[in-house]
Amino acid sequence: MKLGPHTYKITRSKTLRRDRSEVGRADYVDQTIKLDDSMPDTELGVCFIHELVHVIAHVYHAGDQYSEDVTDSMANGLVAYFQDNLGITFDFRDIPNGD
Ligand SMILES: [Zn+2]
Repeated sequence: MKLGPHTYKITRSKTLRRDRSEVGRADYVDQTIKLDDSMPDTELGVCFIHELVHVIAHVYHAGDQYSEDVTDSMANGLVAYFQDNLGITFDFRDIPNGD
């Protein structure tokens, strides 16, 4: 995924939830977004957009002004907008495992 000058690798993980108690993680140094492998695609879509909002805030210098609650609200709203108005749904079958 490209965002500005950055290229992020998106992977699924079987260990993220177990090891870090997280279902998604954006790493700005490694330039990765990891998503828990056990979630259904509808949850993965919201989780991916949540992490994407974090990356956008980081890349475009919004800092930490977006709380987790605000980031969750934006992710749920954006996914609903994509699905209900643009017909965009998420398919993560080709996203590789990055463990
Ligand atoms: Zn978050």
